[in-house]
Amino acid sequence: MTVKAQRLDAYVVETRARFEDLLGQMVEIPSISMDPAKAEDIRRMANLGLQVLINQGAEAQIVETGGYPIVSGGWTTGTNHPTVTIYNHLDVQPAQEPEWKQEPFVFRKEDGLYCGRGATDDKGPALAAMLGARYAIEQGVPINIRVLWELEEEIGSPHFFAGLKHHAAIPKPDSVVVSDTIWIAKGRPAMPYGLRGLLGVRVTLRTGSKDAHSGVTGGAARNPLAELMEVASACVDAKTGKVKIPGFYNDVDEPSKAEIKSFLRSGFQVRRFKEAYGFHTLRTHDPAEITRRIWAAPTFEIHGLTGGYQGPGVKTVVPGQGELKVSMRLVPNQTPEKIFALLKKYVARLNPNVKVEREGMLHPFKGSFEGPYVEAVKRAAKAGFGKEPAFIREGGSIGAVVTMQKTWKVPILFMGLSLPEHGYHAPNEYFDWGQASGGIKAFAHYFSELAGMGKR
Ligand SMILES: [Zn+2]
Repeated sequence: MTVKAQRLDAYVVETRARFEDLLGQMVEIPSISMDPAKAEDIRRMANLGLQVLINQGAEAQIVETGGYPIVSGGWTTGTNHPTVTIYNHLDVQPAQEPEWKQEPFVFRKEDGLYCGRGATDDKGPALAAMLGARYAIEQGVPINIRVLWELEEEIGSPHFFAGLKHHAAIPKPDSVVVSDTIWIAKGRPAMPYGLRGLLGVRVTLRTGSKDAHSGVTGGAARNPLAELMEVASACVDAKTGKVKIPGFYNDVDEPSKAEIKSFLRSGFQVRRFKEAYGFHTLRTHDPAEITRRIWAAPTFEIHGLTGGYQGPGVKTVVPGQGELKVSMRLVPNQTPEKIFALLKKYVARLNPNVKVEREGMLHPFKGSFEGPYVEAVKRAAKAGFGKEPAFIREGGSIGAVVTMQKTWKVPILFMGLSLPEHGYHAPNEYFDWGQASGGIKAFAHYFSELAGMGKR
């Protein structure tokens, strides 16, 4: 069963006003999951999400998780048809940056641009995917489509796993499609198939009950900051970034030549990368090496070193204690548990007085780089945007994706619709009709592709 291109084009034109109206309503609810004062707004967001699905002819419900709820709904066409779950989130980042040129929670529509916090992350893509689904259902495509709208993504999905235990309200699908990622360049669809994991660690050392005068005690007193710096430099080569913890790289699944080639088809440019993040210099300027490092290699990063005196000038104290703030980005098939154990053992050998404590962790994710689902994503993106996507990996982490993989053990694919210039987590966030309309088309095609694959 294929989607008729002309009829789909007409649907996209007709549906634009509805898309804009719904996006406006969603953006104007400040559903900031990080801000406890916005709990009421999160509830309002869940209710609006519920209403939107019901108005589109879906059955839908609000699923309680112990934290913020999940909106779950969908259209059922037959038990012998494949079932796909679309994952998006309707909570947003705070919007306190002074650079906002307008009220972040007042929706503004201008020449096909839709401005406001959450427009591109992730309310616009959520609506585009849902409207693509609505079209496939209207056309009688033999597929069951489930919609999962989370409200805790921006705080690491702490209750998502609890939500998935409601099997009746959130049934296990045959596959999942996630729309919450960013292309590398406009006009070049890029779909991730892997995510890095994360392990946060605090490394502390206390050698005295308080800071002491270095003129009176220096020479005999131990210096915890200096000792922590020694530990840090034993863990990572600061110039190359190479991690020196024994066994750290043992489980790393190195990207193949084909994967690196695909990274380079994403439109990645070294110059733009440097500009976007304000870098004067980099560890390497080879694009293949940069993309491998930021998407498919693990890191050991030092975020802060505290203790002693941090004010202006020099105050001559010997600190009583110090703390290194560290995190490691992990890649398939590393696990944060194992890496934490390796680090702890190594540091104990380097300096038995140093304490190593875990500060949260996320497992890495690796989906398929080839196979029928990947082919379906390729054809769908081509139909929506006129170009086959590059398959890349993401350097960041989406906790909910790993939870769905562990719980359901089904293929998870990505069809992101956001562009770098849209300003994920940044001031003056926007989405645009070009990405929305291409997205509605791509999703409609994707569902028809999945229906064609049948129940697997
Ligand atoms: Zn997001």
